[in-house]
Amino acid sequence: SSKWGKALAILKEFEEKCATPQSRLHQVADAMTVEMHAGLASENGSKLKMLISYVDNLPTGDEDGVYYALDLGGTNFRVLRVQLGGKEKGIEHQEFAEASIPADLMVGSAEGLFDFIAAELARFINEEEEKFHQPPGRQRELGFTFSFPVMQTSISSGSLIRWTKGFSIDELVGQDVVAELTKAMHKKGADIRVAALVNDTIGTLAGGRYTHKDVSIAVILGTGTNAAYVERAQAIPKWHGPLPKSGEMVINMEWGNFKSSHLPLSEYDHALDAESLNPGEQIFEKMTSGMYLGEILRRVLLRMAEEAALFGEEVPAKLKIPFVLRTPEMSAMHHDTSSDLRVVGDKLKNILKAPSTSLKTRRLVVELCNIIATRGSRLAAAGMLGILKKLGKDTVKEGTPERTVIAMDGGLYEHYTEYSKCLENTLKELLGEELSAHVEMVHSNDGSGIGASLLAASNSIYL
Ligand code: ADP
Ligand code: MG
Repeated sequence: SSKWGKALAILKEFEEKCATPQSRLHQVADAMTVEMHAGLASENGSKLKMLISYVDNLPTGDEDGVYYALDLGGTNFRVLRVQLGGKEKGIEHQEFAEASIPADLMVGSAEGLFDFIAAELARFINEEEEKFHQPPGRQRELGFTFSFPVMQTSISSGSLIRWTKGFSIDELVGQDVVAELTKAMHKKGADIRVAALVNDTIGTLAGGRYTHKDVSIAVILGTGTNAAYVERAQAIPKWHGPLPKSGEMVINMEWGNFKSSHLPLSEYDHALDAESLNPGEQIFEKMTSGMYLGEILRRVLLRMAEEAALFGEEVPAKLKIPFVLRTPEMSAMHHDTSSDLRVVGDKLKNILKAPSTSLKTRRLVVELCNIIATRGSRLAAAGMLGILKKLGKDTVKEGTPERTVIAMDGGLYEHYTEYSKCLENTLKELLGEELSAHVEMVHSNDGSGIGASLLAASNSIYL
């Protein structure tokens, strides 16, 4: 029928808008490299903040003692205790507690959010066995993973630049998040000091380096997306502090805020951005990360429902609710291997309350999932190529070739197999066969928590 024709026309138009041929990905990678230079050159030199982390030494393996980590940055929040046993014993013990952040706390008051976190932390500490207690006269130390853009003033202090990923608490912008946390911990009786304030990418880099010595880049693909890497301190013109002994400085790129005319944006992306909590910001993140992929799908489906009666004469009311289609559900539909696409049918019925769908409608939905996931993962691969280019690792050198290991983490990378497969294939495609033999991605499972505790250890005041 002409309705079906209309649906196919919308699909085709969307597919064309989302196209990521190699030539375009190279343009994106080059633009990423250019922005990296600009962001390192001066404060506010680029949409890429290229934040100085004050981490100039990554873990060596010598770290020793019981340390804590606290991870705040998305849907879940975690507290972690890690017992480190130096080179000999490595990680002797690790234990964590997890809680989801109540939605109202994400957009409420600073006090509300930090009191909640501190209370969880206090409980975690108060319940711990005596064998984990610190020696007399020594306070517990914590690595605070805070995965939002922060302007650091030292390894253990820094002010929030802005919120991302659905958080919005205005009064905290510009404030020192460590001071706020410390205040709340005091109130709740959690006897612990923040030894290191780190982004999750920095934590993942540190955790990754602990297990693979060639790790020099970390990429997170979870609710949001971001990357960090090890830069030469000499290559950071905006750094006016003393040159670190190591000659290196870890940079938190905040690449989620990357933007370029080469990004293949569709009308759905523009609308999603305009209606978001942070319009005009985090454009790269809105095309690639877990918070948004399902929402892009919802928007295309809504148009098809309205203009092509995809789900019958009536548009399912649920389909009009922003973020009702989550990326894990999209991923489940994309991975449906049953011959009648039963999972797709069930999801559409359960989430959207759509009436029973035909096989060709289900196929079309899978096709949309594929377009969205492919574009997102190919763009992420282009971003990674941009970092490799910045480091001069995009050409084969004479002599013994260096190995580059990229520590990967985040729920999207971990669980959305079609996405991560496409990401790896695309990076190979962009690097070519010879080079890609020297570049490897490893999944650093909750490396950021371990990494934060390792950084707490190496920045302990008791050393
Ligand atoms: P965060 O980024 O919030 O710190 P995670 O790294 O655990 O936390 O990532 C969680 C995100 O990963 C979710 O918001 C979701 O977008 C995505 N995700 C989780 N499970 C899946 C899944 N099965 N398929 C696709 N995406 C998933
Ligand atoms: Mg996380």
